[in-house]
Amino acid sequence: MGGFGVCRTGAAALSVLALAGCMSSGEDTAKVAAPKGAVKAVSPQEAKQAKAAAAAKVKANELGQVPVLMYHRVVPKPETSDDRTPAQFRAELERLASEDYVPITAAEYATGKIGIPAGKHPVVLTFDDSSPSQVTLDGMGVPAPDTALGILLDVAAKKPGFRPVATFYVTGDMFGKERPDEQTQIMTWLHEHGFDLGNHTRDHLNLRGKSKEQVNKEIAAGHQVVKGRIPFDPVTLALPYGNQPNTKAWALRGAANGTRYSYGGVFLAGYTPAASPFSTDFDPMGIPRIKSQEKKGDCVKFCSTAWLDWLKAHPDERFTSDGDIRTVAYPKFKAAFGAKRYSAYALSY
Ligand SMILES: [Zn+2]
Repeated sequence: MGGFGVCRTGAAALSVLALAGCMSSGEDTAKVAAPKGAVKAVSPQEAKQAKAAAAAKVKANELGQVPVLMYHRVVPKPETSDDRTPAQFRAELERLASEDYVPITAAEYATGKIGIPAGKHPVVLTFDDSSPSQVTLDGMGVPAPDTALGILLDVAAKKPGFRPVATFYVTGDMFGKERPDEQTQIMTWLHEHGFDLGNHTRDHLNLRGKSKEQVNKEIAAGHQVVKGRIPFDPVTLALPYGNQPNTKAWALRGAANGTRYSYGGVFLAGYTPAASPFSTDFDPMGIPRIKSQEKKGDCVKFCSTAWLDWLKAHPDERFTSDGDIRTVAYPKFKAAFGAKRYSAYALSY
């Protein structure tokens, strides 16, 4: 899971401030090798020009779109169009790896902490409803091979650079575990292996039309489903059924029964790639996701195969990293779409 270097921090601490902390080192001490092997100090301006040239070389576009893929169950016999077979899931991960995507977590995406190599594209893998088909561990903590987790780890082992990270949006049905100690065991394993745990509310109720008090209560209870098991505050929320409460902001921040939540992002259930977190299009209260499915029926245009085809055909619209987590690099032509809160990190070419 390289690429973060000295800037890596815990997901809970991810923030613009963390990025700012990373920014403070290195700039004016950059050195390059001179032709005769001597080491020559370069000015900050020269260093910035060199970075811009490097960003241009890989056509970095950190204002481009990011696919956030949404999975539910991974089962041999799909019962709904949300289900994928192990073979379908594996094939999609292999496609992502072959098209230079590198997984990041929903927490990393929403907080703008995208630390992947130059020329690569971020993809967010999200799993809803915490079913055993996603995560099952044996008595020694080894993931079952045909679960989503087992397949992701296997593909990552075979494709160097494909980070085995994902975000699991858990509910009270915690991977089929009912005993509190079993719940703690499975959540601890995921947390300690670098997986992101997000809130999907405790009881998976539709929040549309509910009162502010009811919305706060259900989200806070879901927050506690995670926080009550591991020392981690979820950074993001996925709305049940993708339905926003009547006032969107109620999902982003609130409190009930002594639990306070404040999210970097709230995720929907459809139907397009998501805006770069550095772009003016980014709306933390409603981040779109893409259902994993082939081009058929309702999915001819708006599910994963269709959108991955589209992003491949439109590289100028896709997020491409410059390889430096401390900068937000993009072609000058796109500068109008750079979010002001990240302007201190902007590197246009
Ligand atoms: Zn759900």
